[in-house]
Amino acid sequence: MDRILCPVCQVKFVPREELAPDGELICPVCGARLQVKELEPEVVLERFPEEPEVEINDRIDRFADLRGFVFNENRELVVEGLLDKEKMFGDFYCPCRLENVPENVCPCLDTRSGAVKRNGRCLCGLFWLPEVVEDD
Ligand SMILES: [Zn+2]
Repeated sequence: MDRILCPVCQVKFVPREELAPDGELICPVCGARLQVKELEPEVVLERFPEEPEVEINDRIDRFADLRGFVFNENRELVVEGLLDKEKMFGDFYCPCRLENVPENVCPCLDTRSGAVKRNGRCLCGLFWLPEVVEDD
């Protein structure tokens, strides 16, 4: 099967299941909940329409599950920052970064590229390695 583009993280991935019109799937890279907009001539995905608070909370939960990361008491504050960014700038840009660009949409490129493994946490302190949180 052809690789398809995630409209959230901009990474192409191979879907695990057969795609159906209006079907739903989860991006295996960022955890975004997606919906099939077009199947022909090529697959086009869009974000599943839902409330911002539900969208970001579910996305970070799924991303943490995919990577084996955990949260701590920072979560509430960072999610508030993400919701503020979405309200002001139209997407869930990292609240700890100045630039509101696609690579900073949460989970940001840095986080998806191994920053949590290298540093024990992401820049915001949203995603953590479980062993780092336990040591606190
Ligand atoms: Zn994605």
